[in-house]
Amino acid sequence: MASVLELSEKLKNGSATAVSLAEESLAKIEATKDLNAYISVLGERALAKAAESDKRRAEGKALGALDGIPVAVKDNMCLTGTRTTAASKILENFVAPYTATALEKLEGAGAIIVGKTNMDEFAMGSSNETSYFGPVKNPLDATRVPGGSSGGSAVAVAAGTVPCALGSDTGGSIRQPAACTGVVGLKPTYGRVSRYGLLAYASSLDQIGPFGTTVADCATLLGAICGVDPHDNTTSSRPVEDFSAKLDAGIKGKVIGVPKEYFGDGLDKECKAAIEGMLQKMEKEGATLKEVSLPHISYAVSSYYIIATAEASSNLSRYDGVRYGYRSKDARKLFDLYAKSRSEGFGKEVQRRILLGSYVLSAGFYDAYYVQAQKVRRLITDDFNKAFENCDVIASPAMPGLPLKCGMNESDPMAVYLSDIYTVSLNLSGLPGVSVPCGMAGGLPVALQWIGKPFQEADLLSVAAATESLNK
Ligand code: GLN
Repeated sequence: MASVLELSEKLKNGSATAVSLAEESLAKIEATKDLNAYISVLGERALAKAAESDKRRAEGKALGALDGIPVAVKDNMCLTGTRTTAASKILENFVAPYTATALEKLEGAGAIIVGKTNMDEFAMGSSNETSYFGPVKNPLDATRVPGGSSGGSAVAVAAGTVPCALGSDTGGSIRQPAACTGVVGLKPTYGRVSRYGLLAYASSLDQIGPFGTTVADCATLLGAICGVDPHDNTTSSRPVEDFSAKLDAGIKGKVIGVPKEYFGDGLDKECKAAIEGMLQKMEKEGATLKEVSLPHISYAVSSYYIIATAEASSNLSRYDGVRYGYRSKDARKLFDLYAKSRSEGFGKEVQRRILLGSYVLSAGFYDAYYVQAQKVRRLITDDFNKAFENCDVIASPAMPGLPLKCGMNESDPMAVYLSDIYTVSLNLSGLPGVSVPCGMAGGLPVALQWIGKPFQEADLLSVAAATESLNK
């Protein structure tokens, strides 16, 4: 599908209507059904909202660039009256009684939500293979995963069913699937976008963000969904900026930090060549490359998997078979009701995380694991602060190599955890990051991950836009 800004132009000049765009999107969803990108398609609802949008426009009351644009959202965000499953059996039939703030804002801007996208169960995974509804397929290569956990949203965009989508990112779940499918994915600064109505995985790390085929579309989408929210007291009260303001600023004069720890062994050679090729182009355009160091970064994955699982074990305790969600049929005693509902309702990966998280929080191990991990989190944040004293933006791979081969989550979960090496540190320190295609390797797109200073998304997106134009 064309970009948001192109479609918005068509709506303005009358060569398309919101209803015709919604119909086109729904037809494309149907035609690409075997990719398994969607859990629920909201056809009727979308067409009704699209008709409202067309009516607004006819009355001269169109709302802005997103009015009438079809959008897909990850199925861990609540939307009143629609099923919200987090791709888990435990919520297979859960109908949300309220709407997430980000979705309320999205619809408030006139966007048309056409469907809820497939994902790793409770956003736990990097390969999109842990969904109760089956894996999402990568439209670029059937033998490789689309990345996770927001793989459905990335594929929804990559396959052209919608021009843009929302995902959530706890440790890389927007940036990795964007990288695996050749689209743009942005994780905003922690606190930029409200988490109200996002089914929690790890609350101190979770953040909602946009996918698009262009950097400009991600900027537009971010502008629509961010801002302070009385329902989420971790949201920032900073005024909503115009995130598109600096998109044409170019790269000249920018100082790009290149962490020496990021470009050594462990990074696939062809991917490294593609990234370095882009950095050289930027140098020619007048940017300065500066080596920086993140000395504690090798502890990022271990501390992430302690903190994320600890928070998950607590957040997921609410799924007990009593209040909502799946309830085991053959439990006779209260304890059995909890144990059976949870054992039957949660998949293997989620159970592994709950066990790990309960273990690191248990009395005997809390100091040895959880407290240590929190200290490492501080050290990693300090590393970034120090690096940013000498540069404007930091360049990083998004993934250690090409998208993983299908089936690895089953055969080698550790290898899948390790593929998060370049992304989790941003969630640990709350920093914004954007994954943007920068070249090719083995016939597949390679992405650069740009890391920005807190709340400097406009600058970050300006560098991403420069990458996009140099990659043409
Ligand atoms: N792969 C990471 C995990 O499984 C990140 C997931 C995410 O960002 N939601 O925890």
